[in-house]
Amino acid sequence: MRASDIQDDLTEVLVTEAEIHAKLDELADRIEADYVGEELLVVGVLRGAVMVMADLVRALDRHVEMDWMAVSSYGAGTKSSGVVKILKDLDTDISGRHVLIVEDIIDSGLTLDWLQRNLVGRGAASVEICALFRKPDAAKVEVDVRYVGFDIPNAFVVGYGLDYAEKYRNLRDVGVLAPHVYS
Ligand code: 5GP
Ligand code: MG
Ligand code: MG
Repeated sequence: MRASDIQDDLTEVLVTEAEIHAKLDELADRIEADYVGEELLVVGVLRGAVMVMADLVRALDRHVEMDWMAVSSYGAGTKSSGVVKILKDLDTDISGRHVLIVEDIIDSGLTLDWLQRNLVGRGAASVEICALFRKPDAAKVEVDVRYVGFDIPNAFVVGYGLDYAEKYRNLRDVGVLAPHVYS
C-alpha cells in the first residue's frame, strides 16, 4: 500500500492538524482558568481520544493526572448501537475528584451521557466533558459538554484518533471517509 492510498479514501479534509492544535490551545486556556486551585484528573476514552489527550494535556500549563477508560458503542461499524459496555475501567478512585472526560467525538451522545452518569455515580466532585468534535444529533440529548472543539456536519469522519474498523487513526487531519470504503 502506498502512503497516499490512505488519503485517497477521503472525500474531503474537514479539519487540519494545525487547526486542531490551535483549537486545543484555546480549550487548554479555558480549562486552566476553570480549574485554578483544583486538582484535575483527565480521563481519556480509548481508543479514539488518544491523540486529543496527548495534545490537550501538553497544551495545559499545569499539573494533571491522566487515566483511561475503554467503552464500546460502535463495534466495527459506523452506527451507534446504543449499548455501552466498559471494556477497561479506571485505575483511579475518583471519589471527591474533579474529572474531565476527554472524547474524540460526540454523535448521538449516548456514550458520553452514559459515561458522565457513571462517573458522577462514583462520587466525583465534578465530571465535565471535553469533546474535540460534535455532530448535529448531539443537540438532541441532554449532555452538557463544556468544552467543544469543532461542530462538524453529519458525516462519518476518520483521522486524528478516529477510526473505521481500527484503521485511519494515524491520519494527521480529520476527513470524511469515502462511501466506497464501507459500502
Ligand atoms: P455516540 O454515542 O455519541 O453516538 O458516539 C460516540 C462514539 O462513536 C465516539 O466516541 C466515536 O468512537 C464513535 N463515533 C461517532 N461518530 C463517529 C465518526 O464520525 N467517526 C468515527 N470514526 N467514530 C465516530
Ligand atoms: Mg470515542
Ligand atoms: Mg471507533
